[in-house]
Amino acid sequence: LPPIFEPARPVLQKIEDAGFEAYFVGGCVRDTILGDSIHDIDIATSAYPSEIKAIFNRTVDTGIEHGTVMILDHGTGYETTTFRTESGYQDFRRPDKVTFVRSLSEDLKRRDFTINALALKENGEVIDLFNGLDDLKHHLIKAVGDPNERFHEDALRMMRAVRFASKLDFVIATETLAGIKQNAALLEKIAVERIRVEFEKLLMGQNPVAGLNEFLRTGLYQYCPGLAGKQTELSGLLLLNNWQLRNAEQVWAVIVTQLGFDSREASKFLRSWKTSNELITNVKKMIPVIQGLKSKKLSPLTFFTAGRNAVQDANQVAKLYGWAIPDEQLMKQYNSLPIKSGKELAVNGGVLINDTGVKPGPLLGKIIKKLTVQVVNGELPNDRETLINEAEKIKKEG
Ligand code: ATP
Ligand code: MG
Repeated sequence: LPPIFEPARPVLQKIEDAGFEAYFVGGCVRDTILGDSIHDIDIATSAYPSEIKAIFNRTVDTGIEHGTVMILDHGTGYETTTFRTESGYQDFRRPDKVTFVRSLSEDLKRRDFTINALALKENGEVIDLFNGLDDLKHHLIKAVGDPNERFHEDALRMMRAVRFASKLDFVIATETLAGIKQNAALLEKIAVERIRVEFEKLLMGQNPVAGLNEFLRTGLYQYCPGLAGKQTELSGLLLLNNWQLRNAEQVWAVIVTQLGFDSREASKFLRSWKTSNELITNVKKMIPVIQGLKSKKLSPLTFFTAGRNAVQDANQVAKLYGWAIPDEQLMKQYNSLPIKSGKELAVNGGVLINDTGVKPGPLLGKIIKKLTVQVVNGELPNDRETLINEAEKIKKEG
């Protein structure tokens, strides 16, 4: 058993000692066999949630209606899910009903791809009911059972296929790919938020070009917000190199750059993907920096307005297009800003009201803005007296 599973072994042992079955399942098994690092360990068990809670003193109900209970053990949390089958799927998404079962094979059968349907026993034995090990070896993403049926049950699986193609740099098996092509339109039934998670993971994967290629070839893109009819623009992504996107901000900045969106269009587009307002704000901060890197015209004000994170994220995006400058050089430029935020200005509203007699209102706002721009541009030193004098001048001019 790989060392990463060692700390969780006693947990499985304890469930087994109580007379139930327990296995490591899903991504952690797949990634370990591949020799990739894993971020979380999932456990599947024949024990019902109430039975798990009776075995362990410390648990958290993280999703008890779906059978998921987190076991707390020596400061680590282990997600444990009762074996289950799903039925219903009347609307091409999520099952109407989750039924707990006692058999591992029933649980593995409802999983999406053969490489995700492996179970690992506490003694190191791998349970492979669908030839997942072979598909892992051949780098294949293959639906468990009939692809057509499986994508009808849950259309999100089609997005998951293309994201695993990118994440793992695997190929989608022929029949599975045909199933996606045939059912792509069902993606419309899926909540945008769920599609978004998979799309972001696709762009942050090992081989985004491979994933994007299938995303385009299968027609899935046509059923994503704002992407219908954008084949030409999106195909341009396939020509880019040096993919190493690290967060959702970078992902979406690439997409809006590729689609040629200005700040307003970007907002509208991102809202249609139901991203958070925070993400929209951050992406909008990046756009001028990306454009500045492209045109090699980056002003201190652009740096200042964007802020450190947006500057770094923008450079990461620019790397794809060959517009980036070395990170150290970029950070040196950023760090040489006289002030990094409005808070660092030697005067604030209160001080200006006190010392110049200006009233709170638009004029005060204008003064602060002008002072900030001049300090950022190095036209004025950031000292209180100089700024008060300058404020008096602006006030007189009105
Ligand atoms: P990652 O490392 O990206 O988290 P993962 O395989 O763990 O990959 P999850 O989305 O965390 O992916 O799902 C955990 C497991 O649950 C999968 O390995 C798969 O067995 C099953 N699964 C998840 N989503 C679906 C789905 N829509 N249909 C069927 N099985 C699914
Ligand atoms: Mg996972």
